[in-house]
Amino acid sequence: MDYLRFAELYHALSQTTKRIEKAQILVPFLQELHKSGRPEWIYLLRGKVLPDYDPGEFGISTQIAIKVVCVSFGVTSAQVVQKLNTVGDIGEVAETFAQKKQQSVLFSTKLSVRKVFGNLSKVISIEGNGAIDRKLALLAELFTSASPLEAKYLVRTVLSDLRVGVADAILLDALAEAFFADDPSMRMKLEEAYDLANDFALLFDAAVEGKSAIDHIALVPGRPVKAMLAVKADSFAEAFRICGTPVAVEYKYDGFRMHIHKKGEKVFLFTRKLENVTSQFPDVVQAIRKHVRGDSFILDCEVVGFNPQTKKYTPFEAISQRIKRKYDINKLVHDLPVEINVFDVLFFQDKSVLDLPFVERRKIVDKIIRSEPWKIRVSSQIITENEHDAEAFYKKALEVGEEGVMIKKIDAPYKQGRRVGYMVKLKPSAADFDLVIVGAEYGTGKRGGLLTSYIVACRSGDQFLEVGKVSSGLKEKEEEGMSYDEMTALLKPLIIEEKGNEVVVTPKVVVSVTYQNIQRSPSYTSGYALRFPRITIYRPDKGIDEIADLADLEEKA
Ligand code: AMP
Repeated sequence: MDYLRFAELYHALSQTTKRIEKAQILVPFLQELHKSGRPEWIYLLRGKVLPDYDPGEFGISTQIAIKVVCVSFGVTSAQVVQKLNTVGDIGEVAETFAQKKQQSVLFSTKLSVRKVFGNLSKVISIEGNGAIDRKLALLAELFTSASPLEAKYLVRTVLSDLRVGVADAILLDALAEAFFADDPSMRMKLEEAYDLANDFALLFDAAVEGKSAIDHIALVPGRPVKAMLAVKADSFAEAFRICGTPVAVEYKYDGFRMHIHKKGEKVFLFTRKLENVTSQFPDVVQAIRKHVRGDSFILDCEVVGFNPQTKKYTPFEAISQRIKRKYDINKLVHDLPVEINVFDVLFFQDKSVLDLPFVERRKIVDKIIRSEPWKIRVSSQIITENEHDAEAFYKKALEVGEEGVMIKKIDAPYKQGRRVGYMVKLKPSAADFDLVIVGAEYGTGKRGGLLTSYIVACRSGDQFLEVGKVSSGLKEKEEEGMSYDEMTALLKPLIIEEKGNEVVVTPKVVVSVTYQNIQRSPSYTSGYALRFPRITIYRPDKGIDEIADLADLEEKA
């Protein structure tokens, strides 16, 4: 298959924002792609050569992309920068120079998907001395035989800014339509299988084979699985109605979610964004090896930080560095220790236990964990059908400094990736929301060059709606918390558009924002504005599907 087929597809996809139309464009393409016998090429639809959970990155900055364009099309960096300043998009710049070059040469070779996928995979794996030059050479090899349209999308791919909008739901719609048009129940089955595997190549391969291959997609320790999500209740009466009685009530610990996998001697740790954080938590790996019985399992846990001197639990802010930091790990282990609270199990001794009722899964947890204070323990739990007992447990949870309680349906299976009523959270209503940054503004004076105020948005279905502009809460220095430098470094690669000193960014960075009150306001696309918003913390563990919904804001307004 020629890469041009992909480039034309990207172009067609970019011409519509409608989910149905995008799926319709993808259906014949997927039917054609399957004939290539290379299911992993499906990753290219999202500008990747690896499954979504794999953190491998191309490591290409705009500066390097400019160099690639210079080398490939025989132009100077001044010419590229000048064009970039007028056009604003490096993809279009590459397209223009490729066009000029095409007019001046007689022969052009075709660029195959095999070549593109191969070189891009190598670009990701190259490390160490001279890495940049070798990456440059691999990319230049692709660009020199790229047509203008191919060049445009290649640049966007390596800068992780494809902008064709193929969300999970759209790709699932298209797979269902392409391979199971006669069976509407398969759309849900595909989604459940995807939430287990988180790998579109695997799903695509199985879809081509048929229904039973989809049914056979299984949990595998070492490959991340989506976590079951909680719904919210305002009272025990409501929670009891959702779960049915009796219920299990547990402390809601204030840390971050971690799925802990073990297979033989190997331990793997994943956040709920499916990020592999094993190397950041050698203390957790050690505790698991020592304190959990079983050769293979997947545990669902909340990892909580504590102060090693005072032995007091610390809020998420204090340990968020442990997820982000890739160096000085041993010092962090010492300064910011964590305790593992285990509350569920998904896989045990070579078998999935997703379909066991929660009480049975919890029995396994009780059986295999050897608790040791400040290292690992099973979550505190009562089983009750009595609201008074539940209230008393809730009060105790708040007294000992926990966030609230989780109420769980005792006979429910584990539903990966779902916000079903099998797990309900109840906590004192706080004036804060998790929101995503969709835009930012450069500061002035000593903060010039730094992005210092941020447009934050909530969700409404597939859309992101703005709810305010936040310019406080961050620190000048990294040691005091999230700094402007750090936030700028996070946001810069996500910039889609620049308008004067304002930028639009791909929604990716989730932050918790406190505020004084919410008002109706025509200034923001949500129709609401947060008054006096402040960023309290960056949530590297949370994904954009977990931010506040418009309904949450409406409720508080
Ligand atoms: P929220 O982040 O407010 O939606 O609350 C749900 C989160 O609470 C889960 O994703 C877990 O990270 C966390 N949590 C803390 N304690 C528990 C528990 N005992 N059971 C389940 N989740 C818990």
